[in-house]
Amino acid sequence: MKGLDIFEKKKKEILDDLFDLIRIPSITGKKEEVIKAAEWLIKRLNRTADYVELIETEGNPVVIAEWKAQIQRENTVTILFYGHYDVQPPDPIDDWISPPFEPEIREGRIYARGVGDNKGQLFANLCAIECALEANELGVAVKFVFDGEEETGSPYLDQALKSKSSFFKDVDLVVVSDGPADTTWKPTIEFGARGILTMRIEHMVSNTDVHSGNFGGIQPNPVWDLISILKTIRDDEGRCLIEGFYDNVFTPSAKALEATEQLKRDPEDYKKQLGLTYFGGEQDQPLEHRKMFRPTSNIRGILSGSVREKARTVIPREAVVDLDFRLVPHQKPEVIRLLILDHFEKLKNQSERMKQILDRCEISFGTSFYPLFTPFELPWSDILEEAVKEGFGKDPLKVPIAGGSLPLQPLYEVTEKPIYIIPYAQPDENNHAPNENMMVDWFENGIKTCIILLDKLVSINKD
Ligand SMILES: [Zn+2]
Repeated sequence: MKGLDIFEKKKKEILDDLFDLIRIPSITGKKEEVIKAAEWLIKRLNRTADYVELIETEGNPVVIAEWKAQIQRENTVTILFYGHYDVQPPDPIDDWISPPFEPEIREGRIYARGVGDNKGQLFANLCAIECALEANELGVAVKFVFDGEEETGSPYLDQALKSKSSFFKDVDLVVVSDGPADTTWKPTIEFGARGILTMRIEHMVSNTDVHSGNFGGIQPNPVWDLISILKTIRDDEGRCLIEGFYDNVFTPSAKALEATEQLKRDPEDYKKQLGLTYFGGEQDQPLEHRKMFRPTSNIRGILSGSVREKARTVIPREAVVDLDFRLVPHQKPEVIRLLILDHFEKLKNQSERMKQILDRCEISFGTSFYPLFTPFELPWSDILEEAVKEGFGKDPLKVPIAGGSLPLQPLYEVTEKPIYIIPYAQPDENNHAPNENMMVDWFENGIKTCIILLDKLVSINKD
């Protein structure tokens, strides 16, 4: 593969170019900067791509690009890559050792906001395409979606992609490089991801905080009220109590279960790593299943009154709780949302007390992503596995479902084709946190993996 030789020669230049992209502080909420990053990409894409378009949305733009195969055959495969060029805010900024938007290499790692999540990873795939082109070896058609708003949940991605639905018609498979590899440090292929639905309950019981002696017994306590509600959502064994919540939960296939065996870790490892003495989640489920195959109901945080040295003898006037539900195939966020609302209606009918409480609560839903799962049994699986193995020089770990969530449903809806996640960032990339970093080795192995993958896809027989 000449593409690999070309990459070897261009290594330094590629890193310099990546640094240029990273220097643009395209924090997801700062549209001007995000647009600068989109323009940077477009300029780059225009050097090699056959088609480039910026799709405006109500939020940040989406960029799409296409490269035709250089070697024409019947049944040419079309692969679609997805990456996002917006980044998380760098806060807390004082915790960074070097400035977040001034990339610096220390001990084999590039430190910068957005290097792992996701500029380094999308750039690895882009550079691989460029190397294959320069070698005149591109035997597949390639398409790319660059999302400008992943870090806020890609609210307009669906609309943007659907407005170009014919662009996606011939796609055969989708590869997303995002997130960190498995904690075992093995290169990883993920066949799916859990979905998510977030929810907030805001409970304001009165105009003001009051003295807990003077008004104790008169003013209701919003925290106790929330506890009453929360206790109806999940039991002590970790099982969600919302009726119908588990109705559509999928049963993993034999191959998925087999792959799960490879992922098994000694429970003591988790305990040591996290400082635990016992485990959460559904107590009657195996640990690996709890983080992949089972949905969860999590309290993200509760806010009310003051604690520790700031504690006062008051009845606070309000309490807020944020929750997230991680969803698994084939749960749908919009269905779960209705089940939750139904649950609250039933509570109201059950007791006058619950009705009084819930009538004062404001319930809202935030981010939602669909869960996703690509069966192991498709022919692409082996090719991906071989490409990662050669690119990283190590057997990859096959993860049926990644614990985290990605906005992949819009990609699925326009392509209806299998989606695979191949993270190029190492497990301790510190994404979303200070000192985000990506190991140079992992970045380079990502490029190699992609060059090899493009080459191997030529030989597949689609039919
Ligand atoms: Zn992110």
